[in-house]
Formats: sequence, C-alpha cells, structure tokens
Amino acid sequence: MNATPDPETPVDAAFLRRWLEAATNAVDRESARLTELDSPIGDADHGSNIRRGFLAARTAVGQEPPETPGGVLVLVGRTLISTVGGASGPLYGTLLRRAGKDLGEEPAVSAARLRDALRAGVDGVAALGGAVPGDKTMLDSLLPALDALTGALDAGGSAAEAFAAAAAAADEGAAATIPLRARKGRASYLGERSVGHQDPGATSSALLVTALADTAREGS
Ligand code: ADP
Ligand code: MG
Repeated sequence: MNATPDPETPVDAAFLRRWLEAATNAVDRESARLTELDSPIGDADHGSNIRRGFLAARTAVGQEPPETPGGVLVLVGRTLISTVGGASGPLYGTLLRRAGKDLGEEPAVSAARLRDALRAGVDGVAALGGAVPGDKTMLDSLLPALDALTGALDAGGSAAEAFAAAAAAADEGAAATIPLRARKGRASYLGERSVGHQDPGATSSALLVTALADTAREGS
C-alpha cells in the first residue's frame, strides 16, 4: 500500500505518519509500565501523560494530515504541548516542534537531514529544561541515540541500520539511568533516593526512537 521510499530521501510525511502510528501504539501499550517507573521517583503520571498526548497527536494528524515531514513534527509537537500537563509535554513538544521547524517545507529529506533536525530539537530540550548528560532525564537516552545515529550514518549505514543503532543506544541509555542520581525534574526532589530506578522519560524516549527504527525497517 505504501509507496516505496526513495533510499536517498526516505523521510517524507507518510514516513513520519507511520512513525506516529508506531509511537502511539508503543506508548499506549507501555503506558502502565511508564507510570510504574514514575511511581517511586515521580508522581505516577508519565504513562498517562504521554499516552494522552500521543493519542491527541494521532487524531490531529489524522484530521488534517500535513503534507511535509516538518509539518507532521510541528503538529505533533504543538499537540503534545497543549495536551500534556507534566514536564514531559513541553519538553517532547519542544523537541518535535523545533525539529519540524528545522525541516521547513522540504517534501522529503534524508536520514542525515532528519538527524540534524532532531539534534536541533534535542538542543531545544536541553535549553528549556537545563539538564545535562547524567542528570537522569530523557536526554540520557536521546543524546546517545543521536550519537549512534551519526556514527552509523558516517560509517555508510542505511537509514534503517542507522535508526536501529539509535534505538539500541536509546535503550542502553535508558537502562544506564538506573544508578544515576536525578538532578532535574520531580525525581531530583528525592536526592539519593532517586538512585536505583530507571528514569521514565528516558524510557519513553527509547520507545519513540524504537518506533523510528521499526518504521524504517518496515519501509525498506
Ligand atoms: P512530571 O515530572 O511533571 O510529572 P512526567 O512524569 O510526564 O512529568 O515526565 C517526567 C520525565 O520528564 C522525567 O522522567 C524526565 O525524563 C523528564 N524531565 C523532567 N524534567 C526534565 C528536564 N529539566 N530536562 C529534561 N527532561 C526532564
Ligand atoms: Mg510525572
């Protein structure tokens, strides 16, 4: 049913709509686990927060499908900002809206171009939230994912291989938050007691990157 993607510019609006579908399904499926992770070091709402946001984003994109990949990301980002009450809504919303604006009106882009846009989006998360690597936040999954994506693309990997490498790095980054002490967000109120728990936002970030890898694999 889907048009065969151009291997040079595999990321078009249809690709990102498939990503949104995969991401929404993953967030919906894992919502209880994300909320469980947010119980000992937060207020037990991360799963319901981002589930609500992604369901609303899927509806918004379905109602008025944007024609460009940048347009899809901007609409998803804007919807997350307006529907998610917790810290993660403005942070993920900023990431996606900034990345979408960076893509501009291009009808289709390469994986490397998407990587650059996502880098701009992740820089926006760091600027908004003030977190640095090791603070036990979503950045501890997102930054290793970007680095792995860059490494795989620089090594000549395909988009599917590069997104798969990013997903593996995001998973590792999320698991590596367990021994960290939180320095940002609600979990930081717990100080030392935040040690020994996986960060919920780093975990949901890994789901979003895995959805990108799944989308690229299925499209190739
Ligand atoms: P809230 O903390 O407001 O209840 P959520 O539970 O939806 O919001 O999201 C919590 C997640 O948000 C954390 O696990 C962390 O990954 C991320 N987060 C919180 N504050 C920051 C920050 N300043 N920078 C980056 N990520 C953050
Ligand atoms: Mg919370």
